[in-house]
Amino acid sequence: MLLVYQCPNCQKAYDKQRSLYVHQLYYCNRESKFSCPNSGCSYRSNLKSNLKRHMLLQHGMTQEQISALTDSMTYGYKKW
Ligand SMILES: [Zn+2]
Ligand SMILES: [Zn+2]
Repeated sequence: MLLVYQCPNCQKAYDKQRSLYVHQLYYCNRESKFSCPNSGCSYRSNLKSNLKRHMLLQHGMTQEQISALTDSMTYGYKKW
């Protein structure tokens, strides 16, 4: 079985375009609970620790900046 339809957000792959469509519509955003607050960055993760590491490595933010942003984060939505 070839998984030719890959989700650009989370890299999950499906063999049917329909399956990918359903995934993006109903599941993808729910699986990725934490999204990067930097404008223009589409990084998201379902683990807060992954997001923190991303901000540290990709944006050169300090631990204090990261904590200030992520400690108020809860499941689901950005507050900004
Ligand atoms: Zn996805
Ligand atoms: Zn980012």
